[in-house]
Amino acid sequence: MHYPEPISKLIDSFMKLPGIGPKTAARLAFHVLTMKEETVLTFSKALVDAKRNLGYCSSCGHITDVDPCHICSDKSRDGSMICVVQDPKDVIAMEKMRDYNGLYHVLHGAISPMDGIGPEDINVSSLLVRLQDETVQELILATNPTIEGEATAMYISRLVKPSGIRTTRIAHGLPVGGDLEYADEVTLSKALEGRREL
Ligand SMILES: [Zn+2]
Repeated sequence: MHYPEPISKLIDSFMKLPGIGPKTAARLAFHVLTMKEETVLTFSKALVDAKRNLGYCSSCGHITDVDPCHICSDKSRDGSMICVVQDPKDVIAMEKMRDYNGLYHVLHGAISPMDGIGPEDINVSSLLVRLQDETVQELILATNPTIEGEATAMYISRLVKPSGIRTTRIAHGLPVGGDLEYADEVTLSKALEGRREL
């Protein structure tokens, strides 16, 4: 199908989003044509603003518009616990559950030798810096229940062991091979409650 250039450009842009194939992209592009100009402008501004104004917290690595993030700077949170997750979306999943009041650390990935991703490629070194703070007593390893997530949890657990900080792994009950962010709140809450010592 040959489209006028502005349309094909818009279709190409939508196809850059995950899970959007050519058909959906075309449907979305044609939908944009029916939208009010004002709505389109608000939409495009939201895209640019999100990209420009969001960054990663220098302490925990979570996505934020202020540094340190709202979670790290919240004095009512329990600084003795750090929950280690792979992705900012996992923090959002944990926060939705409302059972956890500690801090987080986002790794931005997991160790995966098959894909050439080693410990130096994920956000581990800043975690070690945080652990030098004596208030931290427990590290909850909440990486995904996948081979990579397990390997990453084991790696961090071994690394931290000499410091005497308690390391725990969230319980299974989470679907193996699944992503933390897709777990429902009850499953996630149970997994946290049933965490075991590593
Ligand atoms: Zn933070």
